[in-house]
Amino acid sequence: LVARRVAVPIGPGTLADGTRIPLLANIGSAAEAKAALTLGAEGIGLFRTELVFLGARSAPTVAEQQDEYRRLFTACRGKRVVVRTFDAGSDKPLSFLATDPEENPALGLRGIRATRAHEGVLRDQLAAIAAADAETDAEVWVMAPMVADADEAGYFVSLARELGIQVAGVMAEVPSCALMAGQVLGIADFVSIGTNDLTQYTLAADRQLGSVASYADPWHPAVLRLIKMIGDAGEQSGRPVGVCGEAAADPMLAVVLVGLGATSLSMAPTAFEAVRTELRQHTLEHARALAVQALSASTAAEARALVRE
Ligand code: PEP
Ligand code: MG
Repeated sequence: LVARRVAVPIGPGTLADGTRIPLLANIGSAAEAKAALTLGAEGIGLFRTELVFLGARSAPTVAEQQDEYRRLFTACRGKRVVVRTFDAGSDKPLSFLATDPEENPALGLRGIRATRAHEGVLRDQLAAIAAADAETDAEVWVMAPMVADADEAGYFVSLARELGIQVAGVMAEVPSCALMAGQVLGIADFVSIGTNDLTQYTLAADRQLGSVASYADPWHPAVLRLIKMIGDAGEQSGRPVGVCGEAAADPMLAVVLVGLGATSLSMAPTAFEAVRTELRQHTLEHARALAVQALSASTAAEARALVRE
């Protein structure tokens, strides 16, 4: 008896008309990056650096961080690696970026707000990334989480440039950032949409609370309208707009995100095959038509149904 092996289609993310949509991986360590590359990742779209140092009591030194980043960049030679600066607070507490107790930590001093309040930690992290970048051959992009507007984007981008970062962008996960996307993309080299938090804040539904889970649906047209604003700003500025939230791992929603203006998609590597297969069924024109349908819906369920039809 000869077992038949089913070939897994590994290849770049491509639409039916040949438009390239790079499929990138969300990872939390260099080891995860290696596994993602064997599954066909075209690069890393989100390196959650806070996960590497979750247990640290004190801030990691520049040398400690440089070792970690060097290991990752070496594994990703020639590929894009988007590094996110520490996203501390709320669901990802870091003791070296701890805040006073907060009643609503998701609305508190988290993400860029926390690192801005501890600027020495942010400076060290940016210096370590720049040093590791200089030693290796990956295409390193750096972004800050939870950026609210162009002023905050400007703070981050100028600090990143001062410390030797070549490509500096921001995550769009707070609705105000989407509403101000034109201004933000006048400053940031790129935007990456974090649909997990963008959905949480748009629908005012705690992403960790089961009782409101039905609200936290990235198919909601309110979320899609904000994403369209960012996509339009990306097209006008000619700057990349990625998506790195879980929404990118839903094959049909991935097509809608492309129709709304996403130029790359980053996800858990287990989703590559299904997303890659779905993207190949649609032209960019068709993805845009599906996005128009989804935007016209009044609920998440209706958006899903209209697109699936
Ligand atoms: C997001 O919010 O969508 C995101 C990618 O960041 P995280 O899930 O790490 O908050
Ligand atoms: Mg987030």
